[in-house]
Amino acid sequence: MNKPSDPTVKRTLMRPGPLLRGASAPVVTPIMPSVVYASDTPDSLDAQYEGRAQGHTYAREGHPNADILARRIDALEGVEGGIVTGSGMAAVTAALMGLLSAGDHVLGGDQLYGRSLRLMREDLPRFGVETSLADPTDLDAFAAAVRPETRMVLIEVVSNPTLRIADLDGIAALCRDRGILLAVDNTFTTPAGITPADHGADIVIHSVTKLLAGHSDVTLGWVWARSPEQRKAIYDFAVTTGLTPSPFDCWLAERGLATFALRYAAAQDNAAALAAHLAGRDGVARVLYPTRDDHPDARRAQAVLRGQGGHMVTFDLDGGRSAANAFAKGAEGLAFAPTLGDVGTTLSHPASSSHRALTPEGRAAIGISEGTFRISVGLEDRAALLAAIDAGLAAAKAVG
Ligand SMILES: *Cc1c(COP(=O)(O)O)cnc(C)c1O
Repeated sequence: MNKPSDPTVKRTLMRPGPLLRGASAPVVTPIMPSVVYASDTPDSLDAQYEGRAQGHTYAREGHPNADILARRIDALEGVEGGIVTGSGMAAVTAALMGLLSAGDHVLGGDQLYGRSLRLMREDLPRFGVETSLADPTDLDAFAAAVRPETRMVLIEVVSNPTLRIADLDGIAALCRDRGILLAVDNTFTTPAGITPADHGADIVIHSVTKLLAGHSDVTLGWVWARSPEQRKAIYDFAVTTGLTPSPFDCWLAERGLATFALRYAAAQDNAAALAAHLAGRDGVARVLYPTRDDHPDARRAQAVLRGQGGHMVTFDLDGGRSAANAFAKGAEGLAFAPTLGDVGTTLSHPASSSHRALTPEGRAAIGISEGTFRISVGLEDRAALLAAIDAGLAAAKAVG
């Protein structure tokens, strides 16, 4: 593997947690589906609830598989006390609704994940929480959108699908100066790309569904807050509203996480190669990859992502919708599916999926055309991957 992809991610030892050690211990974490846990006495139950003894009581409040997974993700992010939730959106929701109250304002990045945008636009206002959006790549514009009642900022470091890089350090300084909580959804970038807590984030969020679990077979989230009181508020909201993860999903994600660093490095190598392969090709109007010199935020990518480009490549086909249809069909073996972070490459077409609610003019304003594809690059043999892309490009050219 080449240098840019050397995983800087902290590796953890692949052993079950201390919950399961006797004279010998299983090498693989068992799946523990029990909903209820028996305690010895009311006194020992008190000790558990008061944190003087370790144990579980009822699975909605926590269970061993969720705890073991949470500690593994904590280690990757370099933090303690993260909470695993039943989906990435459960993590976003618990962070926002667990910490915000009527009268607060939350300022979001203007290219957040679609459901996060919906939560901000449609749901939070019904509970009296004001929301607005601003461009996190433009610190002045972002600062101008802060209000006296702004209590939280929610951003992603790399935007979907144009891979613009937020001014994370500028926004962190702004939040620190103004006493605003900074929440970072680190799903796209992953802890191999960046650990937001080291840049001053007060809250870090993951859709574990994506790269961390990595095999498109579980839906899970993780959320951490720097303050123990805020962690408890998020936890209590998640328990009250039942944002509980399934033990089996947690077990699958733990298994996926064992290879996360290797998958990330391999996907990133393939992505850099794919970006280079696409650039300047006949029928390809534009290629976006953060470490390329022609990326609008190339310099910031060097600083914020430590020179890593990540596993996403976005490009524009010439020829509009008919070329896009032909490409998706022609790139045989690559799933046309609106997700990311799978072991296999997936093709996403924002105009018909993540950004379909916008008008064509609205899409154009953020750089999305009918020919735009966002590719979540997987671990395939590189030659086979490039051949499939070439087959798609040839099909697009034939109709264009
Ligand atoms: C997928 C995703 C989410 C939502 O995660 P789910 O596990 O699907 O609920 C949130 N944020 C980002 C950036 C995502 O990509």
